[in-house]
Amino acid sequence: MHVAMIGTGYVGLVSGACFSEFGVSVVCVDKDSKKIEMLENGIMPIFEPGLDDLVNTNVKAGRLTFTTDLGEAVKAADAVFIAVGTPTRRGDGHADLSYVYAAAKEIAENISGYTVIVTKSTVPVGTGDEVERIIREARPDAEFDVVSNPEFLREGSAIADFTHPDRVVIGTQSPRAQDVMRELYRPLSLIEAPILFVSRTSSELIKYAANTFLATKITFINEIADLCEKVGADVHHVAKGIGLDGRIGKKFLHAGPGYGGSCFPKDTLALVHTAQDVGSPLRIIEAVVDINDKRKKAMAGRIINACGGSVAGKTVAVLGVTFKPNTDDMRDAPSLDILPALINAGARVQAFDPEGMKEAKEMIDGVVWCDDTYATMVNADVLVIITEWNAFRSLDWARVKSLLSSPILVDLRNIYEAHEMAEAGFDYHCIGRPKV
Ligand code: NAD
Repeated sequence: MHVAMIGTGYVGLVSGACFSEFGVSVVCVDKDSKKIEMLENGIMPIFEPGLDDLVNTNVKAGRLTFTTDLGEAVKAADAVFIAVGTPTRRGDGHADLSYVYAAAKEIAENISGYTVIVTKSTVPVGTGDEVERIIREARPDAEFDVVSNPEFLREGSAIADFTHPDRVVIGTQSPRAQDVMRELYRPLSLIEAPILFVSRTSSELIKYAANTFLATKITFINEIADLCEKVGADVHHVAKGIGLDGRIGKKFLHAGPGYGGSCFPKDTLALVHTAQDVGSPLRIIEAVVDINDKRKKAMAGRIINACGGSVAGKTVAVLGVTFKPNTDDMRDAPSLDILPALINAGARVQAFDPEGMKEAKEMIDGVVWCDDTYATMVNADVLVIITEWNAFRSLDWARVKSLLSSPILVDLRNIYEAHEMAEAGFDYHCIGRPKV
């Protein structure tokens, strides 16, 4: 079995490497020649735990190669995966499908023999139909099927998610394409991962429904956290108390600064627009999008309040800028709202992130980037935790106190306990839990 993976980003590279680990011969294609050059030299263009070992092992075994030549990769492939980006389209909130359609055109020019074209990118309902139309128009002679196979991996645990998925969703009614997909995912039968065969339309919608449901769950607990602050309840206790109910579940009930990342913000927005277009608006998701946008913007205000109402002329130390730990991904991270707002309010911002600073430097101006956790705190008036990297979970409080000019801690991820911080002599601010 030969696979061509078009797009070698967080999803394409991980999926390609994992399929090669399953024993399939995979060519990862990207039009970004720098990425391909790095990969050919054994350097990962992204940070994802375990990825370098997985890639290098499979390259050595001869099952995984990289190229910018889409044509050659597609000609030899039994299955061609489209794993290019589908960001928010500028101006209107729909998913920008230009990369998907451009890839489809290039694929059409090069397929030879029966080929399964698989959209792994997150794409709105109807995209598979359009990909099929594009290919059919360019190559009326071609033998192919277009399948939807959305990806559910999470950055930071992407390899385990791909190799031990809760489920695999495959959208096609073609028995021939089903056979190819079944064969590709055959190794997962050993762990009895459910494989769900559905229509292409249902498959496309499953991905958006899953992401918007999770975004809703986060937004729900964030609003409950705000209510907790008003009434003196503790959101940790409330989350635990509801999460132990099997109908609700414990996951995604962590209050924080609002969801970010490369998927939830764009996917919630895209689904809102799909639903409006067909006259079936999703009012819950519309509210989620609005609440989350406002929440991310409101976080700087919490920090300013913790500093007594102004950060003008003050130094703010920030730990963590990526949208979550264990990734270097900065897309739609809450820090992108928080840091510029603090700088606009007159603060000097000193920040550190274990993996995200290279990306962040390109996206946020005016920040003093520091070499490590403690260097960030020197002479700062307040310490703010935005991303809960493990490295920030057990700080040396005596050292922190000696470095800060005032012992104020704003913990936007609730990783510390209020009473412990009070005992350590900190003025501690968190989300949805009573002050001690
Ligand atoms: P990404 O931006 O990291 O990678 C996309 C890659 O595609 C880039 O390297 C780009 O150069 C390449 N590309 C674009 N057009 C190309 C073309 N015509 N030929 C070859 N290469 C091309 O994106 P990502 O985060 O991997 O996301 C890809 C898709 O997967 C999106 O639809 C996203 O919503 C979805 N998804 C992402 C995640 C995640 O955690 N990142 C999880 C599940 C699903």
